[in-house]
Amino acid sequence: MNHDLIVIGAGPGGYVAAIRAAQLGLNVGCIEKEAALGGTCLRIGCIPSKALLESSHLYHMARHEMGAHGIKVSGADLDLAAMLKRKDSVVEQLTRGVDFLFKKNKVTRYRGTGRLAGPGKVVVDGEQPAELTTKSVIIATGSKPFMIPGVEFDGKHVGSSTEALSYDKVPEHLVVIGGGVIGLELGSVWKRLGAKVTVLEFLDRIMAGMDTELARDAQKVFEKQGLEFRLKTRVTSAKYDGKQCVVTVEGGEPIHCDKVLVSVGRVPVTDGLGLETVGIQLDSKKRIPVDKHLQTTAAGVYAIGDCIEGPMLAHKAEDEGVAAAEFIATGYGHVNYDAVPSVVYTEPEVASVGKTEDELKAAGVDYRKGSFPFSFHGRAKALGQTDGYVRVLADKATDRILGVHILGPRAGDLIAEAAAAIEFGASAEDIARTCHAHPTLAEVFKEAALAGDGRSIHK
Ligand code: NAD
Repeated sequence: MNHDLIVIGAGPGGYVAAIRAAQLGLNVGCIEKEAALGGTCLRIGCIPSKALLESSHLYHMARHEMGAHGIKVSGADLDLAAMLKRKDSVVEQLTRGVDFLFKKNKVTRYRGTGRLAGPGKVVVDGEQPAELTTKSVIIATGSKPFMIPGVEFDGKHVGSSTEALSYDKVPEHLVVIGGGVIGLELGSVWKRLGAKVTVLEFLDRIMAGMDTELARDAQKVFEKQGLEFRLKTRVTSAKYDGKQCVVTVEGGEPIHCDKVLVSVGRVPVTDGLGLETVGIQLDSKKRIPVDKHLQTTAAGVYAIGDCIEGPMLAHKAEDEGVAAAEFIATGYGHVNYDAVPSVVYTEPEVASVGKTEDELKAAGVDYRKGSFPFSFHGRAKALGQTDGYVRVLADKATDRILGVHILGPRAGDLIAEAAAAIEFGASAEDIARTCHAHPTLAEVFKEAALAGDGRSIHK
């Protein structure tokens, strides 16, 4: 045997699984086709988009918001090339960091495309081909952008989030197809940098899957910032005609613009993996079916992250990577899917964990709702970021927290306390009785927990 475990894919799911398994004493190999480790998240997803979100926010603040703080800024000009270079350097530091962690944990890295070649056999195709034997395999091949038929990607004018992370100039008019996470995050980046941004969404709401009221309130805030939304609008085609991009929509006039960002979801990467050599069959959405231990139908073969069922989130993949590695090494390992937060990194951020109101209503659960606005809070006022609220949904009989939904400054950081509360089975009263430092944004969570019982102090 070359290895106890081979991980295919070095994204947040795969590289974390490899490190955790190595910590537990396994001899681990990890196959990655890209030169840089870290997967979509580190190279062309979460990390570069956050670097741009921060930079574009600072630019916007310098031009439009600092005056309110009594700071006069003149000559605040955009140096887009420098902004993109900084983003690339953040990415490089992190992807190199994964290299370092692999070396530190003695994970053997293989450069190439991995595939199964029968039980216990894995082949690496590419410049450094190899045939390996292993006791276990974790498939962590991630996902790629979904393409709508009729939309002609040319990588320059009509493209995915990958291209939208590196436009070499600010588009005059950016049309975003899909009002989901990617469209809102990157749409808001280019809006802040000066583009006109129009979001075309097929459904009658943005951020499908998140709490309906939260999504509606978030949309109002984004509209105030100048993002344009056209809901119930199905895009049928998009292409560059040599002069401009033309986007056609069902039952409406074509829209002309200079860039199109297609963000209509992602699909699992499960082709060419040799799954048939061990008898694994994909489900109808081309995902790899797994049991609660992340085991596939083939003995010793596990799958995690975007290529299996569930939300396509880096932290969900990471937790599955740890759970799969621990299960392989120790026979134990689990993920609590009720406590997986989701965050949309707009400005302000939107964050949720647990059940939405829609889900509780559909399940006939008797719940109570406590809400507290940031506009009543001293620290939010001091920050000058008062849009939004924290909303706590708790079981009416037991007071157990079932869901927390936040629209507001640093919602993505604040949701961690709510995820911990759900993980520990906390009641709203537990949060209400926990001393929160003053003045911090976290107090808004405490006030929302109190509000469910009509006891919030500052409202
Ligand atoms: P999404 O699934 O979040 O949203 C896609 C939207 O496109 C949907 O609302 C859908 O109704 C709409 N749509 C589909 N076809 C359309 C058409 N023809 N015309 C108009 N609208 C259409 O997809 P995404 O934003 O591309 O993100 C992909 C995945 O990446 C998601 O699973 C997301 O969770 C993940 N992601 C997460 C984060 C984060 O957690 N912050 C960030 C980026 C991506």
